[in-house]
Amino acid sequence: MAAANPNVIYMDNNATTRVAPEVVEAMMPFLTESYGNPSSMHTFGGLVGQSIKDARCNVASLLGAEPEEITFTSCGTESDSTAILSALRTFPEKRHIVTTRVEHPAVKNLCENLETVTGHKYRVTRLKVDAEGMLDMAEYEASLTEDTAIVSVMWANNETGVIFPVAEMAKMAKQRGILFHTDAVQAVGKIAIDLKRLDIDFLSLSGHKLHAPKGVGVLYIKRGTLFVPFMEGGHQEHGRRGGTENVASIVGLGRACELAAEKMVDENSRVKQLRDRLEGNLLEIIPKSMLNGHKTERLPNTANISFEYVEGEAILLHMNQHGICASSGSACTSGSLEPSHVLRAMGVPFTAAHGSIRFSLSVYNTVDEVDLVIAKMPAIIESLRKLSPFWKG
Ligand code: PLP
Repeated sequence: MAAANPNVIYMDNNATTRVAPEVVEAMMPFLTESYGNPSSMHTFGGLVGQSIKDARCNVASLLGAEPEEITFTSCGTESDSTAILSALRTFPEKRHIVTTRVEHPAVKNLCENLETVTGHKYRVTRLKVDAEGMLDMAEYEASLTEDTAIVSVMWANNETGVIFPVAEMAKMAKQRGILFHTDAVQAVGKIAIDLKRLDIDFLSLSGHKLHAPKGVGVLYIKRGTLFVPFMEGGHQEHGRRGGTENVASIVGLGRACELAAEKMVDENSRVKQLRDRLEGNLLEIIPKSMLNGHKTERLPNTANISFEYVEGEAILLHMNQHGICASSGSACTSGSLEPSHVLRAMGVPFTAAHGSIRFSLSVYNTVDEVDLVIAKMPAIIESLRKLSPFWKG
């Protein structure tokens, strides 16, 4: 498949993805002639409403859910907040939240806020991870109490790609009458998800991580799960989220989910081959480089590699000169020189955490691109290490 921008080698797909051409095509009518309001009584609006229904079916089908379990939101962050705040309002007497130390800021910062802002007084348990980024299930089990309102655990980590055992965790929560939310923003479209078999009450996803546009997300709410809306207003989204729908983006997300359902298995195995080629070569060729995160329990597209004794930001600048786009730490938290909270939680040494680069591939990457990155990286790392007072190579 042709790159959208031939001057760029884009390996930052956990930050955001290219909107698929098929998705753009599906959206165009709703940005041009089909501008009716889906809530209107006339046929002109009604047809738009039908397109939202179709999109809802496509999203549901990718997740193994029912269409009425799908609520469109503005982004993954909104879905995360909505799920957690809904649980706290549903069970006002319960004051405890269980989460992990490696969540995206969308959950991490909300939990910090709930814990610290005067008047809330929530207690938050943040589960530890080991050196490979995996959870300790005994610690998880012990954390669940009668006071726990909700567990919020990401399906896959945005920085390392590590996948958590959310099916088992949701089951354990359900046995104790505790609501379970998973932030699946990085997982959807990359691994198979079948919610009808699982005890997950809430799941968040975000359009721009799976080749749909920015500004649209989904909150899955399992049938029968008690729910309190975050955004009150009109009757849209079955009264679960007020506000006139972002029609074009919803249609685009529906199309992206349809494409993922059709092609996911083949495409992700191709992406995994590319990722493995990149990762295997870089780890072999570049001394003092190491993989961050579990070797196998990982998204097929993500490789987080530390190059010791160099700064991630400096590496990114050099890569940028060759048109190679990646991230150091999480894109949302870069800009600060603090090493990522995820790598710190895994106990990655400071010298390595600072020099970590996240390569996140997509179906639009090619073998030639991967080989070019493999060819460029050793010289970049070597030149930067020569400037480091700590490098004794
Ligand atoms: N959760 C995870 C795991 C993410 O990676 C991101 C974005 O990077 C978000 C939530 C936030 O999603 P959005 O940008 O749609 O608000």
